[in-house]
Amino acid sequence: MTRKRYNFPIDRCPYCGGKSFYISSKASGTTSFFVNSDGTESENDSMYDGLNLTQNKYWQCGDCYKRVFKDSEVEQL
Ligand SMILES: [Zn+2]
Repeated sequence: MTRKRYNFPIDRCPYCGGKSFYISSKASGTTSFFVNSDGTESENDSMYDGLNLTQNKYWQCGDCYKRVFKDSEVEQL
């Protein structure tokens, strides 16, 4: 999987100064976990493809959990 880059409207939490953010999603559906017959783990890159995700509208601070900005303010690079 390639990692995306995000361009945030702020570089730290205005409440606590925290420097990581997260966005939550509600998930529903089924996931499957694949293992080879020799007992080694298969590629599970598509593990979450069967899920329906409803993403929150707000990003939150990873330290104090307060809402810090809207997803519509985030640019994905
Ligand atoms: Zn914070």
